[in-house]
Amino acid sequence: MKKMPVLLTFDVDGEMIWRCRDPENANRPVALSLGEYGIKCGLPRVLKTLKKFDLPATFFVPGFIAEKYPHVIPLLNDGRNDIGNHSYSHTYPDKFPSKEAEEEDYKKAQKILTEQLGWEPKGYRSPAWEYSVHSLDIIEEMGFEYASNMMGSDSIEYLDTSAVPGGRKSKIVELPIHWILDDAAFWMYSVRIVGKAMQPLESVLDCWCREFDGLYEDYMAEVAEKGDSDICFVLTCHPQIIGRPSRVSVLERLIEHMNGTGNVEYITAKTAVERFRARHEA
Ligand SMILES: [Zn+2]
Repeated sequence: MKKMPVLLTFDVDGEMIWRCRDPENANRPVALSLGEYGIKCGLPRVLKTLKKFDLPATFFVPGFIAEKYPHVIPLLNDGRNDIGNHSYSHTYPDKFPSKEAEEEDYKKAQKILTEQLGWEPKGYRSPAWEYSVHSLDIIEEMGFEYASNMMGSDSIEYLDTSAVPGGRKSKIVELPIHWILDDAAFWMYSVRIVGKAMQPLESVLDCWCREFDGLYEDYMAEVAEKGDSDICFVLTCHPQIIGRPSRVSVLERLIEHMNGTGNVEYITAKTAVERFRARHEA
């Protein structure tokens, strides 16, 4: 029987998630320490959970973070996990002054990651979960196989930006994400983010379990009807957010809930893309 694919993805942003929101945060040690927590405490806790359940995951790492914390990539690069390009500076793509500046930033990250990994990352995740008018050209020219930024589907699809002027279809495989399956939407907190409140743990667990249940039902229905399906469950977390003790317990309970079906398979982005291409390009 076909097993429901689950992708656990982590954006190892460190302090860059705060610096990109407000350049002044570069002068605020407490704001930066929130990000540093992710590297120092959150990531080890996430890795402990993955080890406990024996699961592979996909990590997107800004080049700046790989450079500043050279122990991070070797920790993740275990031959099983996948690691993708998350830009160098975590700048929102539409904030770059030119195509050249955006390209240079991604290439800088790619060089650092490739040197540290010993292999070249094939995936790109935008720091803002948005593309600039140049992003698609750049990631195609750089030879990326997949991206994971679009919120328009429950299924893996080819990346298509035709909704905007000058947009188009591409052969880059897009792994669907959504704010509802992102820990930052529920828990990213700072007194400077107006109106933000931390959500109760049980609410987030309930939400993620119900999202999984619905997608699982649709996946199984499609498999029964067509023999296969591109529906998948993609969770996006940040070690500095999910890596608090209380929240990592939510991740563990979600994993236990999904495992309760007896019919899920945890795969990396790389594996998901290979399977998608084998199914649609054979
Ligand atoms: Zn990020």
